[in-house]
Amino acid sequence: MDLTEHHDLRSNALPWDAHADDLPPADTLPVRMVDVAICGAGITGAMLADRLSEQGLSVAMLDRRYPACGSTSASTALVLWEADVPLSHLAGRVGIDRAVRCWRRVHRAVRTLADHALHLPRAHMKARQSLYLDGTLLDADGLAREAALRAAHGFPSTFLSAEQVQQRFDIAPRPAIFSGDSYEVDPVGLTHDLLDQARDRGASLCWPVDVQTVSSADTHIQLTTDRGVVEARHAVLATGYERARLFLPEAFRLRSSYAIATAPGTAPLWRGPAMMWEASSSYLYARTDAEGRVIAGGGDEDFHDPDHRDRLIPTKAAEIAANLSRLVGRPVEPRETWAAMFGSSPDGLPAIGPSAAFDRLWLASGFGGNGVTFAALAAELLTASLTDLWDKDMDCFDPYRFGASRDAG
Ligand SMILES: Cc1cc2nc3c(=O)[nH]c(=O)nc-3n(C[C@H](O)[C@H](O)[C@H](O)COP(=O)(O)OP(=O)(O)OC[C@H]3O[C@@H](n4cnc5c(N)ncnc54)[C@H](O)[C@@H]3O)c2cc1C
Repeated sequence: MDLTEHHDLRSNALPWDAHADDLPPADTLPVRMVDVAICGAGITGAMLADRLSEQGLSVAMLDRRYPACGSTSASTALVLWEADVPLSHLAGRVGIDRAVRCWRRVHRAVRTLADHALHLPRAHMKARQSLYLDGTLLDADGLAREAALRAAHGFPSTFLSAEQVQQRFDIAPRPAIFSGDSYEVDPVGLTHDLLDQARDRGASLCWPVDVQTVSSADTHIQLTTDRGVVEARHAVLATGYERARLFLPEAFRLRSSYAIATAPGTAPLWRGPAMMWEASSSYLYARTDAEGRVIAGGGDEDFHDPDHRDRLIPTKAAEIAANLSRLVGRPVEPRETWAAMFGSSPDGLPAIGPSAAFDRLWLASGFGGNGVTFAALAAELLTASLTDLWDKDMDCFDPYRFGASRDAG
């Protein structure tokens, strides 16, 4: 059995494809043992390599694709600390103390990411607010309770009535939670910037290299690839939605998602720079970018067959455009439309932590709508663990918290 699944992760041209020509150079496989081998050079692998190399660790990144050309290139890259499962729902599931601890840790990761990335040249990271509109998960009363719970625990969120939303943002009157500390980013530019920083500190970036197996020795991990063997004191599987089936429980599921981008110069379609999303399990969301495109997505489906997924692109793109148009009261013309594999977890939180099978083998899988934020979180948690400072919040994101079986969660 291959170490990780092989998937067609995305389709069609994407707004970020311009950067794909601007690839970092490929290094040869390291001949000496490195401190950390990272399987995967998407946003998660890049954030890990940046932080670990900053701490003076020797790092090798290995990817079977071009760097940043997996799911990272399909991302719409709203950087939010609010997870897909509302705080009030998570509290019902795991208790308020643990729910708040999880959310605080995610919130902290966004702020630390901003400290590290706001100055990076190709990341185009910009501070934004978010507007979380009513939906099938939370109606007006649910949003008001959610906002009060968040505020009581120190999160920067306020409830707005439908009339306040209409007046302030010039969109359809819908109740919402307005929050601060969010960002938009160019996901490919950010990944390339982080990879460059790590390479400047001596990290190697080896592609195309397919990691086929991992095995554990007393003092190290051995990774067998199609180009040779790499030895590392620790290894991290940052392979996104190409799951390492032997190590990642089935509660982390695959889906399909759809997105559109308008021509540059289309924005503003609503007043102010807030990003918008709905309190639904398959939600409409929208933001603008540095060139004035409006980027929107949604229409998630529970299957992940790529042919089925891609056949639906015209229908899904039209639906997203029509839903956004209804919300903002103006026509929305998609110029680019795409579909991609997506991942979800029962609590909307990622799988980050030690693998149950091998010592020295770690998982960093950002399932849920906050994959960019979860990449930053993985970098914080695993850098602490690999430099002997165990992070007290590690248990919140334990890959085995739903059990290890197919039906868990
Ligand atoms: C349509 C869409 C919209 C999204 N919107 C948002 C959003 O608004 N905000 C947000 O925060 N997140 C969003 N996400 C989620 C986020 O983009 C992803 O979670 C994130 O990009 C995943 O990054 P990654 O590095 O973990 O995975 P990837 O970018 O897929 O990188 C993993 C890499 O591992 C490599 N790999 C796998 N197996 C092997 C192997 N055996 N050997 C060598 N290499 C291997 C792959 O080639 C790949 O390059 C969105 C995702 C999609 C698809």
